[in-house]
Amino acid sequence: MQPTSRRDFLRSTAALGAILALPGCGLFGDDAEAGLEGSFDGKVLIVGAGAAGMTAAHLLTRRGVEVEILEAKSVPGGRIAHDTDFVDFPISLGGEWIHVDAEVLGDIADDPEIAATTALSAYASTDTWVWFENGEVQRDIAGDDVDTDLKFVGSSWLGFFEANVLPGIADRITYDTVVRSVSDTGDGVEVVDAAGVSHTADHVIVTIPMFLLRDSAIEFDPPLPDRHLDALAEADIWGGMKVFLEFSEPFFPTFFEPEDASSRAGQRLYYDAAYGQDSAHHVLGLFSVGDQAEPYQVLDEGDELRDHILAELDAVFDGAASRTYLRHIAKNWSADEFAGAAYLADEASSTVAPTLAGPVSDRIDLAGCSYVRGGDDWSSVHTAAKAARDVVERILA
Ligand SMILES: Cc1cc2nc3c(=O)[nH]c(=O)nc-3n(C[C@H](O)[C@H](O)[C@H](O)COP(=O)(O)OP(=O)(O)OC[C@H]3O[C@@H](n4cnc5c(N)ncnc54)[C@H](O)[C@@H]3O)c2cc1C
Repeated sequence: MQPTSRRDFLRSTAALGAILALPGCGLFGDDAEAGLEGSFDGKVLIVGAGAAGMTAAHLLTRRGVEVEILEAKSVPGGRIAHDTDFVDFPISLGGEWIHVDAEVLGDIADDPEIAATTALSAYASTDTWVWFENGEVQRDIAGDDVDTDLKFVGSSWLGFFEANVLPGIADRITYDTVVRSVSDTGDGVEVVDAAGVSHTADHVIVTIPMFLLRDSAIEFDPPLPDRHLDALAEADIWGGMKVFLEFSEPFFPTFFEPEDASSRAGQRLYYDAAYGQDSAHHVLGLFSVGDQAEPYQVLDEGDELRDHILAELDAVFDGAASRTYLRHIAKNWSADEFAGAAYLADEASSTVAPTLAGPVSDRIDLAGCSYVRGGDDWSSVHTAAKAARDVVERILA
């Protein structure tokens, strides 16, 4: 569906405003303000060190609970991975924007003061937009349609976790450990990794992405409940890819929405990735998910991808892209062995995420951006953290 206005596009895209900021409204509401009550006398094992896994480990560790995290990759972050080599600020290869009020940072860090001390940039009414209407290129400023998302300055979602969450849990994470099975049939819950090593805990939180869960990347004994399996079967999961291009000149607007860039089956948007950064680099980001990502995903990530994107940009910006191109990097989440896709589609059934947020058993929970209760908000860093907090609350109760 072609957006009828820039604000419609912002409302519909996953990257930029699936959820609009509500000033003064803490994301996690009363629970967060009251703090997490209770205790747990046992060990909690967490599968995955993405936003959900790190948040759960942080909240539990701060309440004196013994925690172990098993992470398949050699680094933390999962879908908030960033690249710190491309230019002089971190490039967010996955989750980038803060879609809700900055207070969410305090909820995640378990410290309400954090939001005030974190450097963030907001968008402005003077931001420039280029988009298509009835096949014609349109150019304007945002005006009253200013985007309400926030961005980290000189940092990223992963940078935020590294600074405020990881220090207290770093020694609890074992990397390069791929979990293959979770068994809830003995005294403790047994987790076995790809090397055949057995890990036992009193409670297990599984945070692997939905695509992998549906693909049976982890075998559960007993199997996942039927309600979970039904929700997974019903889930519409989008693939996704981001590309970042550096140019010698800033010929592009704050946002560029290519023709036919929005449909019920995907989204795609070019944006000024250096916006708000203290940097002289001119970096254009391409966010694409669902069917909108597919034309890029089939290309070789080197010259083929470059030529395809430059042609798309040259047609609108009078050849400036080819004239000023310096280099690019790409991240295809669908090809990432430990993601398999981008996330649960914006248009997915609103019963999927809340159903998967329900307990698997008394001793096993799922937590992650698409296993989250309440509303129709999923597939973002803040929902991953919210899901983690909900599970921690259940464990401590
Ligand atoms: C292209 C793109 C753009 C996005 N943009 C935004 C945005 O602007 N703002 C926003 O809020 N959100 C955005 N998101 C969504 C956000 O990044 C995710 O919702 C969030 O990071 C998911 O966190 P998670 O902890 O649920 O899952 P993950 O980050 O996927 O963490 C799961 C972890 O489990 C590990 N793992 C997988 N399998 C195993 C196994 N068998 N054993 C052990 N470990 C395993 C993985 O390596 C990973 O570290 C975007 C996502 C993508 C892909």
